[in-house]
Amino acid sequence: MDTRADLESPDSASSPASPTRPQMSVVDRLDRPLHDLRISVTDRCNFRCTYCMPKEIFGADYAFLPRSEVLTFEEIERVARVFVSLGVEKLRLTGGEPLVRRDLPVLVAMLAAIRRPDGGPLDLTLTTNASALRKLAEPLAAAGLGRVTVSLDSLDDAVFSAMNGVDYPVAKVLDGIAAAQEAGLGPIKINMVVRRGINEASVVPMARWARDAGVTLRFIEFMDVGHTNGWRMDEVVGADELVAMVDAVMPVEPEPPRYRGEVATRFRYRDGVGEVGVIASVTKPFCGDCTRARLSAEGRFYTCLFTGEGHDLRAILRDPAVTDPAANEATLRDAVAAVWRVRDDRYSEERTEATSSSLPRLEMFAMGG
Ligand code: SAM
Ligand code: SF4
Ligand code: SF4
Repeated sequence: MDTRADLESPDSASSPASPTRPQMSVVDRLDRPLHDLRISVTDRCNFRCTYCMPKEIFGADYAFLPRSEVLTFEEIERVARVFVSLGVEKLRLTGGEPLVRRDLPVLVAMLAAIRRPDGGPLDLTLTTNASALRKLAEPLAAAGLGRVTVSLDSLDDAVFSAMNGVDYPVAKVLDGIAAAQEAGLGPIKINMVVRRGINEASVVPMARWARDAGVTLRFIEFMDVGHTNGWRMDEVVGADELVAMVDAVMPVEPEPPRYRGEVATRFRYRDGVGEVGVIASVTKPFCGDCTRARLSAEGRFYTCLFTGEGHDLRAILRDPAVTDPAANEATLRDAVAAVWRVRDDRYSEERTEATSSSLPRLEMFAMGG
């Protein structure tokens, strides 16, 4: 859909953003505000996780985006400013693997300088496989990154190698996490995708390690994103089962959500030391509070992780007829607001095995997980 075709936002005056401009927050058809933006800075990755970019499909001859089609840092910053003017308070850099994008700290500094309409700073975070954190944690922190989430699916090298697809050793991820801790990029969260028959035996050791290391573990139910990971419902280890596994050895109790739209269901250890969470998008969907938008590396705006349909913001950014940056920003703002207002996505609440295989969908690494 061409976003410029449905510009009808009644409350979006066509003047540039400024710190004094009042906030023009938008809500969708289900009364969900626009609060988070996940920005994919690249569709490339140095890992080949079986659940995300299986190496049989994403081999040497796979055609990733040419550089000219990927948004520049200036374009990303402009889009981010527009989303912030519409109510976004949290930016998460992702991918693909965000750390493979050259000069990422330069982009982080540009985004860290953006202020909310009330003058406050943004919550600026990044999700990474940690492979380049030893080198980049300090420059990223110095540029203004707030914290990181690291993906790690097992502490067992044989299991982790099989899942990351490139024989990447656990020790190097742990070293990347240590580098992030040294650079002050905390509180650090760890994402662990759990797939039945592959890494359930890693659940309790990961929980124990995370608690001792002072990081917050989030189990993620294996999701049916994209069409290449061979998803089947019987490979999903559900939230209740995951929590029971941990509770049996380290008792936990539920924690209330801290804010609307919090993705993880949280549990605190009964002895008062630490917490663990589950992102249960399959067995306990949370679409009702979903306030997240996604921007792909090529500048398409997605209102749901499970959609094949994106809205082309790059066409607006690169419109040769509009040379005034303020006018271009105003057009972008109108387009984004118009798309959000008509959003009614609730895929996970409607998911069945049948819809899972039949819907057109983009891969997660392409739209920004
Ligand atoms: N490369 C970075 C990383 O792995 O952290 C960022 C991008 S990755 C697509 C973002 C998150 O999505 C990771 O935590 C990853 O484990 C998760 N993910 C990818 N495919 C998934 C799937 N099929 N089900 C559940 N989580 C998935
Ligand atoms: Fe790469 Fe992250 Fe996908 Fe793994 S989950 S293949 S690290 S983008
Ligand atoms: Fe949000 Fe779509 Fe996920 Fe529901 S399925 S929580 S609407 S991204």
